[in-house]
Amino acid sequence: MKENLVGLTLAQCAHYAEGIGEKKYRGRQIYKWIYEKHAAAFAEMTDLPAALREKLEQTAELGNLTLVEKDERSPSGSVKYLFRLHDGYHIESVFIPDSPRRTLCISSQAGCAVNCRFCATARLGLKRNLTAGEIVDQVLRIMRDVNDQITNIVFMGMGEPFLNYDPVIQAANILSDDNGLAIGARRMVISTCGLSDQIRRYADEGHKFRLAVSLNSPFQEERERIMPIARKWPLDSLLDAIHYYAIKSRKIPTFEYVLLAGINDTRIHAEALKKLVKSMPSKLNLIPYNPTVAQFSRPTEERVNEFAQWLLPLNAGLSVRWSKGYEVNAACGQLAGKQSEWIR
Ligand code: SAH
Repeated sequence: MKENLVGLTLAQCAHYAEGIGEKKYRGRQIYKWIYEKHAAAFAEMTDLPAALREKLEQTAELGNLTLVEKDERSPSGSVKYLFRLHDGYHIESVFIPDSPRRTLCISSQAGCAVNCRFCATARLGLKRNLTAGEIVDQVLRIMRDVNDQITNIVFMGMGEPFLNYDPVIQAANILSDDNGLAIGARRMVISTCGLSDQIRRYADEGHKFRLAVSLNSPFQEERERIMPIARKWPLDSLLDAIHYYAIKSRKIPTFEYVLLAGINDTRIHAEALKKLVKSMPSKLNLIPYNPTVAQFSRPTEERVNEFAQWLLPLNAGLSVRWSKGYEVNAACGQLAGKQSEWIR
């Protein structure tokens, strides 16, 4: 199989060059072509000798995602991409232009093992972890397709980033490297369902990417019902870990709260949520549910606004994120779910 060079760090590129009998600096040149100039083919790498370009053509590749479907129907301008991996599994990414930002929502795993009841990806189960290359390649492919820079990255596509920790961090490091794609670390968000030990590890390692935690209920029992992973990582320990992160990193974590009609959208929830958010430096994003699973629905707009009102006054930042991809089935897992009927 050809060696995929997308996903290699600068040091790994240099090492790769030496491994094929070239000087180290050739690796640095290749690195720049991939991440700074977004080269789609070795033929574009004009400062490499022709013989080396030919050798690379034979033995290496620049990413290996295949675009299967591109859905541009969203009036908001969001574009949803469905990619096939080399072994036949599918992942999706969503481009969300919101001037001046151009955000990309990317996947960290094919499918997901976490099994949140309301989530479309959960229905697929976990197929496998993505490599750092497959994560970074989503960004390169879409950047070339839209012919524009990506300003923000959110790890909110398929999968649980903290169950694929090392490749996700490697990809995030590459995406934020000043010598390459140079997407600001503070403009990248890693979103987790709430694995306390990984949150502490993330805090200890001192990463600059922002952290978001999918809370979805302020009550342990209810959280267990909609997010069974909460049995393993109970709310008390989770909040301790997030607090630890906030203190240690001096960064403000974001709580995400998917609003599910008749389930977690009552005044009692709002009061408990407010108390919880106020207990530490944090922000809160309310996400009205994007209907994908039959048992769950989105509260009315009126109720969403009312819920937000109940939370006031909240010193922390509060925003309501109407899912931009609603019209293009852009809730996590929807396109790949459609595909899985006929492929793997
Ligand atoms: N596994 C990670 C990242 C993927 S999900 C996590 O749990 O955070 C990203 C966010 O989308 C999470 O907050 C999740 O609760 C939310 N989400 C999942 N399905 C949704 C849907 N149908 N509508 C709205 N938000 C959804």
